[in-house]
Amino acid sequence: MRPEASSRPLAIDTLAVHAGQPPDPVSGAVMTPIVLSSTFAQDGPGNHKGFEYSRSGNPTRQALEACLAALEGGAHGLAFSSGLAATTTILHTLRPGDHILSGDDVYGGTFRLFDKVMKPLGIEYTMVDMRSPDAVRGALRPSTKLVWLETPSNPMLKIFDIAKMAEIAAAARAVLVVDNTFATPILQRPLSLGATIVVHSMTKYLNGHSDVVGGALVTSDEALRERLAFYQNAMGGVPGPFDCYMVLRGLKTLGVRVRQQCASAAILAEKLSSHPKVKRVIYPGLPSHQDHALAAQQMKAPGAMISAELHGGLEGSAAFLKRLGIFACAESLGGVESLAEHPAIMTHASVPEDARRVLGISDGLVRLSVGLEDVADLWSDIEQALV
Ligand code: PLP
Repeated sequence: MRPEASSRPLAIDTLAVHAGQPPDPVSGAVMTPIVLSSTFAQDGPGNHKGFEYSRSGNPTRQALEACLAALEGGAHGLAFSSGLAATTTILHTLRPGDHILSGDDVYGGTFRLFDKVMKPLGIEYTMVDMRSPDAVRGALRPSTKLVWLETPSNPMLKIFDIAKMAEIAAAARAVLVVDNTFATPILQRPLSLGATIVVHSMTKYLNGHSDVVGGALVTSDEALRERLAFYQNAMGGVPGPFDCYMVLRGLKTLGVRVRQQCASAAILAEKLSSHPKVKRVIYPGLPSHQDHALAAQQMKAPGAMISAELHGGLEGSAAFLKRLGIFACAESLGGVESLAEHPAIMTHASVPEDARRVLGISDGLVRLSVGLEDVADLWSDIEQALV
């Protein structure tokens, strides 16, 4: 696509196919070439064509970073070797004595990073239920430099008000980071609601095919971008060019995938909620969900993740996960294939048991990532496993 092809802002589905990916100027290749070279020839010392060494910059990664920035409506994107590498890089902008105020329901690995890696380095953290703005205001400290949230949260699918949190963070002169992994920019764009940084595990919906581990961040704050790009190079958690190409390829179908996955999830959530073996279904699209109204206002659709508490505790949930045939019992989410997992034993095992209990991560809780298979087949699979 030529840059001058449209006189009006392009829609997100068009950006997903084209942003950052003009035809290759050398060959005309329509698909972005995978530039595997680790180093780039210079005409003389310091006289290069924009690339010196692939940790500091690589043409395939640059295309991906531009596409990610366009999708999130931000000025700058940075790609990493995993979601946690992106998170680690952001957290290293903090200094001993600084404080992170985090939502109380985050990916177990993010919690582990706060608790086991950053805390020993002198970075403190507090976790609060961000559905209460007063609780958030009350937990702020003069040393709070970062406010961190996931919405929908993982695995309880709470919805936090991004615009409200942005207002509170701004008043405290703290940076608001939103992990947009579950929603993707197809469903919500946190920067437009006042967040300073959006972070992603690209391993999930952005790549969408469960064959890459990757991470990303997007920001429009120029000074912050400069710092983060410095840390990206200095700390070195960058993705390889092949993985960048794979994610660029996955991004092209992000919109159609996410919309279809949401449509199927809505059907399955509805059916699950009237099944006698199911104690409770947590899906932001159901009117019974505590944050249903906020989800409807903040998101274009309620997502394709469902959490459900089954009768029979660990025995019931383990038997269900064992019986599933189309859903694979596996960690991760957001791929074309449906996955099911047990948060207490799998993704959130690093969250202490008492904290899990407070959050509602019980032994009967299962989390479903709804894929692209036929929804009638998915329901048959669930139904035969719920015996
Ligand atoms: N954020 C969320 C919401 C996640 O679910 C995950 C991983 O499951 C991560 C971050 C970490 O990403 P990665 O596994 O790519 O390091």
